[in-house]
Amino acid sequence: MDGGKLLLFIELPGGELDEIGRGILSWGARLAGVLGADWGAVTAVVPEGGQLAAFGAFGTPAVTAIAGGERLLDAPALLGKAVADLAAERGATVLLLPHNDLGSTLAPVIAAALDAALLTEVAAVRRGEDGVRLSRPALGGRLAETKVWDGKRPLVLTVPTRALSQVLLPTVRAITPVLATWQQPPLSTLRAARIIGRIPPDPETVDLTEAEVIFSAGKGCDPATFEQLKELGRLLNVSFGVTRPVFDQGWAEFERMIGQTGRTVAPRLYLALGISGSMHHVGGIQDSRRIVAINNDPNAPIFTTADEGFVADLGTIVPLLLAKARSGAGGAR
Ligand SMILES: Cc1cc2nc3c(=O)[nH]c(=O)nc-3n(C[C@H](O)[C@H](O)[C@H](O)COP(=O)(O)OP(=O)(O)OC[C@H]3O[C@@H](n4cnc5c(N)ncnc54)[C@H](O)[C@@H]3O)c2cc1C
Repeated sequence: MDGGKLLLFIELPGGELDEIGRGILSWGARLAGVLGADWGAVTAVVPEGGQLAAFGAFGTPAVTAIAGGERLLDAPALLGKAVADLAAERGATVLLLPHNDLGSTLAPVIAAALDAALLTEVAAVRRGEDGVRLSRPALGGRLAETKVWDGKRPLVLTVPTRALSQVLLPTVRAITPVLATWQQPPLSTLRAARIIGRIPPDPETVDLTEAEVIFSAGKGCDPATFEQLKELGRLLNVSFGVTRPVFDQGWAEFERMIGQTGRTVAPRLYLALGISGSMHHVGGIQDSRRIVAINNDPNAPIFTTADEGFVADLGTIVPLLLAKARSGAGGAR
């Protein structure tokens, strides 16, 4: 199998290379190294000068913008077809997308158009003797499922956004990418479903494994504090989790329990309130981007896991936070 060609789909929401876009570039640069592939990025929006430089910081050799692609962002079937046509024209062997709203919608459309293999939420890629080995978590993260790609057909991959980091590899040198626009040949039919609106997930019911921000209550919460925390979570639009003793008291459903026997979570922010930091709980929160803990015991083990810790009594701090939120401090997102 030769190295082939890797194409990364970068969304550029609002014309900006956001955290996810930078994460895909970092992941893609590494993947290109593993595959020994030539690579480049495809966008639906023409990147402005500053944004192009940001692509270059990740060593992106080439950026191709789909002419008129911006109009296709609400018509994934058409955008997916355009990306697939471009990939076919360029002889791309691997396409990489983030597993977010748009990426996970486009991936099957592209795979179907290219008659390609599709593997979603891939966590690791390495070269084996039999081909390229792609692993992803299965059974709620308790097992890793590994598949081998032999390179005979194109491959479409998505990567979970929580697995993305914006690390600049030391081997990557900043360059000025070649920018091109690509005109899709006219389609015989332009009929496709259009997205007319997006309803954001409800933080109160969203699966905790997908939650962006989690406030979690431990046994240090009394009933009054617990109710205040739930209200705080609603006001700030964040998800709510609990430890096992709180679940055992019947204050929350099993789906809200986090830890070894509960959910394994990976939010951007995990706020641990009145949680001691037992290994059974910490095992389920270690992939969080940032852990902040509030506990009245300065020696609580959670402080050794937390990025930031506050020694404070919840009975004092939670009413203050709630008053601030009630006075219209806005959402956490
Ligand atoms: C096999 C097994 C599996 C388990 N699985 C899980 C699991 O999935 N998830 C899980 O959470 N647990 C699990 N446990 C239980 C786990 O071992 C701990 O008992 C549990 O995580 C402790 O929860 P906690 O931190 O809420 O309570 P505690 O350990 O009692 O800690 C309460 C903390 O609150 C602080 N505090 C008290 N009052 C205040 C106040 N007013 N202001 C501020 N801080 C205050 C205290 O200083 C203390 O640190 C499991 C146990 C076993 C044996």
